Amino acid sequence: MATHDIPPDDPADDPDANYDYGSDSVERPDLVADLRALVDGDVRFDSYTRQLYATDASIYEVLPVGVVFPTSTADVAAVVEYCVEGGIPVLPRGGGTSLAGQTVNEAVVLDFKHDMDGFVGFDPAKETARAQAGITLAELNDELAAHGLKYAPDPAWGDKSVLGGAIGNNSTGAHSLVYEKADGYLESVEVVLADGTVTTFGWVDTDDLAGLADSDGDLEARIYAEVRRLLDEEADEIRERFPDLKRNVSGFNYDRLLEDAEERGEVNVARLLAGSEGTLGIVTEAEVSLEPVPEETAVAMLTYDDVIDAMRDVAPILEHDPSAVEVMDDVFLDLARDTDEFRDVVDLLPEGTDSTLLVEFYADTPEAARQQVADLVADRLPTATPAGDPAEDAPDVTDDPVHAVDVLEAYDDDRQAHFWKMRKAGLPILLSRTSDEKHWPYIEDTAIPAEHLADYVEDFREILDDLDTFASYYAHAGPGVLHIRPLLNLKEAEGVAKMEEIADRVTDLVVEYGGSVSGEHGDGRARTQWNRKFYGDELWDSFRQTKATFDPDWILNPGQVCGDEAGESDMTQNLRFDPNYEFDAGFDPALNWDNENGFRGMTELCHGCAGCTGYQETTGGVMCPTYRAADEEVLSTRGRANMLRSAMNGNLPDDPLDDEFLHEVMDLCVGCKGCKLDCPSGVDMAKLKTEVKHAHHQEDGVSLLDRVFGHTEDLLKLGSAFAPVSNWVTSLPGADTLAEKTVGIAAERDLPEFQRETLRKWFDKRGGSTISEPAADRKVLLLPDPYTNYSKVDVGKAAVRVLEAAGVHVEIPDDVGDSGRPAYSRGLVNRTRETARENVAVLAPRVRDGWDLVYVEPSDAVMLQSDYLDLLSGDDVESVAANAYGVCEYLDGFRLDEGAGFDASGESLAYHGHCHQKAEQRDHHAVGILRRAGYDVEPLDSTCCGMAGSFGYEAEHYSMSQAIGDILVGQLGASDAETVVAPGSSCRTQLGERDDVDVDGEPPHPVEKLAEAL
Ligand SMILES: Cc1cc2nc3c(=O)[nH]c(=O)nc-3n(C[C@H](O)[C@H](O)[C@H](O)COP(=O)(O)OP(=O)(O)OC[C@H]3O[C@@H](n4cnc5c(N)ncnc54)[C@H](O)[C@@H]3O)c2cc1C
Ligand code: SF4
Ligand code: SF4
Repeated sequence: MATHDIPPDDPADDPDANYDYGSDSVERPDLVADLRALVDGDVRFDSYTRQLYATDASIYEVLPVGVVFPTSTADVAAVVEYCVEGGIPVLPRGGGTSLAGQTVNEAVVLDFKHDMDGFVGFDPAKETARAQAGITLAELNDELAAHGLKYAPDPAWGDKSVLGGAIGNNSTGAHSLVYEKADGYLESVEVVLADGTVTTFGWVDTDDLAGLADSDGDLEARIYAEVRRLLDEEADEIRERFPDLKRNVSGFNYDRLLEDAEERGEVNVARLLAGSEGTLGIVTEAEVSLEPVPEETAVAMLTYDDVIDAMRDVAPILEHDPSAVEVMDDVFLDLARDTDEFRDVVDLLPEGTDSTLLVEFYADTPEAARQQVADLVADRLPTATPAGDPAEDAPDVTDDPVHAVDVLEAYDDDRQAHFWKMRKAGLPILLSRTSDEKHWPYIEDTAIPAEHLADYVEDFREILDDLDTFASYYAHAGPGVLHIRPLLNLKEAEGVAKMEEIADRVTDLVVEYGGSVSGEHGDGRARTQWNRKFYGDELWDSFRQTKATFDPDWILNPGQVCGDEAGESDMTQNLRFDPNYEFDAGFDPALNWDNENGFRGMTELCHGCAGCTGYQETTGGVMCPTYRAADEEVLSTRGRANMLRSAMNGNLPDDPLDDEFLHEVMDLCVGCKGCKLDCPSGVDMAKLKTEVKHAHHQEDGVSLLDRVFGHTEDLLKLGSAFAPVSNWVTSLPGADTLAEKTVGIAAERDLPEFQRETLRKWFDKRGGSTISEPAADRKVLLLPDPYTNYSKVDVGKAAVRVLEAAGVHVEIPDDVGDSGRPAYSRGLVNRTRETARENVAVLAPRVRDGWDLVYVEPSDAVMLQSDYLDLLSGDDVESVAANAYGVCEYLDGFRLDEGAGFDASGESLAYHGHCHQKAEQRDHHAVGILRRAGYDVEPLDSTCCGMAGSFGYEAEHYSMSQAIGDILVGQLGASDAETVVAPGSSCRTQLGERDDVDVDGEPPHPVEKLAEAL
């Protein structure tokens, strides 16, 4: 490699990278100039950035004024001070995972996650931690793990959401049976007040309040005066109107204030800020108390014939002191069964299962954990035989009738994690419907005392029956927080009206059962409207007085919790989809979208949950490599999906086929298909990108770079024909610079080495297969993809050797090679369709004659297995797709190794799979067969290698490619394996070119290791 061995931290800083994550169209340049002069952080008011921050995980969409990425408390204070003078609202934002619309506003957004995400320190004496507002909860806990402690609030999306957001929403999670909400762990906060003052709120003795309070003093003194007013004047009303529930996050946090004053004799304004949704002050740093990490956990999944039975079982189960009780109903389980990721869990459930309760226990030892499950089962399902023994003196804790039908137990970490992952992916799973009717969140987190849950669900169902719809019921049954999402079409006026009526009637129901309208996700735009009815006029007015005291100019995220300055709040305004919604792709889609409810169904599928911005281990291995590499919203699947939809529904003035849009938004998607598998709703951005690129080619012609890479086979063929001269020419000094200047191929890249003797020639020369057709059980057409045929010939030879050792008759056809993958990845759909048609015409009759189709290159195999079905239809293409395999998949799937006689030495291998095969869930085969051949294999849960076909060859993508590659290299560094193997030729090239990977030349393809083991 020549110059860029160490890529810059931000790939866009590379001088060759002609992208900057935004558009050239900037709103309010005056404001931008002023703010840039005031802050160290980035200021972006361009149309792309604004649109990217116009949505969160809710049903709402509001275009912000612009986005500032503060780097310090001083930056935050400067922005607030400037904005309050200009009367411009300000909105603090973390991960943007909120579900009620509190993270979108016509405001200057302060993105804390980007740069204010530091861990400040751990205080061993107090056992507290201090961190900046933008640190993710997962990172915070990573910092604390060494101390055996954790930040206990555990919202399901803890690796995507941040401390400031958790405080803003007063978050908690599945373990609120044993832990408090975020407010319960707040010791102090550094906060920027609405006039730009920076102060700290911590514990104050109630006797000292009088000295701090002054209703004519500065803002901080007026805030303390308001605290005094609340304690003196509103105490009775607070006791009367706040529900007696652990889980209530709607309204301002008055009940915590009162409770602290009464029980501790002190108050903490930090705790009043919890759940205020950025409306009272902006937290920049917080000191939080911690909890010990439990030693052991165990899970019992109880199954039921009916969700009402499950609900009736919650109260008796709580008698067993579980750490969590989570419900999943039939609608949830049916949708989970349709996902590749969770089908296996649902299939474990007994036939006829309608609902489940996931019951978890914390314990000090594995034996104690098993015993707790056994005690539960002995009580709630006495006919079952649990793995452990109940305590000899275990009392019959409850005498309620038995409702459960069966139980699955989980003691090992992987099985427990898999059960939990399915439960936590509830929302995205439910929103995987591509139709206009979706399970929208707007009354999705009511909290009801456990003893009333069954009656509440029955009444809720009656309301939905009246309105001719239904919902799914899942989540935290233990503390009574049910996620209920009625199915509605908000693109129709009737759907919007039904939404409001359901919310209205459910609020009445909640009041009747002593519950809360929001037990978890906050008020935002969805529930603020109901707070007056829920809390009554006096507290509503008090909320507004509190707001006016903290924020006299109503600039901090106005509209949430207690309405806007005029007292208005309307849940039906600013909907992302409403009856006025229009969509026009601007072109006729060229691919087959029948399974996705049309191109539009897929374009509108992403609901903004931010799953694609999380950790590798929680999100899934692959999605989304570009976000992980550069931490930019526009580089996440969510960012791209939001941008594409907005360009097609008119919210973004740009045409999706504009050069700038393609360049900044679509081109940096590496097309790895990671989202197709890892996004729980199945957003397939790679396919969307292909469609858009194709439409662009139709309109504007094909660029030189796309033409070059789209004709990879021709180029490789030419290089091979003139080898070794062609290799000498490409290695001449200056050849790399010329390639960069003329075509745009990165000078740092080595071009493939061409082989004069192609795989086909070698095969013909040796006289074809050594296994005759009649002698073989199976016969394979080994399809020579261009890289293998002209450059990586040894891989093809190894495949022939291994297949023949397994008794397979092999042919390498002359009339099929290129699957069309290189052209397809450049959006050359017409050309690829032609290639596909020609290949299918040749291959379908051969398949009918009993031939299996095998590629050594995974992306070519997947091209036939999956992408051809997007290009062609009919029996022929379906039979080609059904009989195409990657070589390891073929060997493993048919257990062909049994006759091959592998005998590997036990050498340890780190296996980096190919993203496309992962997306099709065919990647595990290589690990299976390598292990049976005798290798000790460590499969890496790795993302894309960064090369992604031709992406990493492009000069302007080189540093992004390296930044993505860093993630894989980091994983390799953590592995003890002796050798890395990878089936993808571009992955091998990428790894082979890295100085920081210990490999001689390029790493081997798994089939080469199999050949070695013969
Ligand atoms: C699939 C899914 C599952 C979820 N599960 C849970 C769950 O189990 N429990 C739960 O509680 N929630 C849950 N949520 C909601 C949400 O993820 C949490 O509330 C989360 O803690 C919000 O964090 P965030 O960083 O995304 O905050 P954001 O959405 O960015 O912000 C949340 C609120 O806090 C305010 N805020 C942000 N930063 C600051 C700051 N520095 N100072 C003051 N205010 C600030 C914002 O203005 C906003 O009003 C879930 C959401 C999804 C999509
Ligand atoms: S792409 Fe998928 S994971 Fe990402 S926000 Fe959209 S729905 Fe969620
Ligand atoms: S295809 Fe890959 S890079 Fe593109 S959005 Fe999906 S996960 Fe991200």
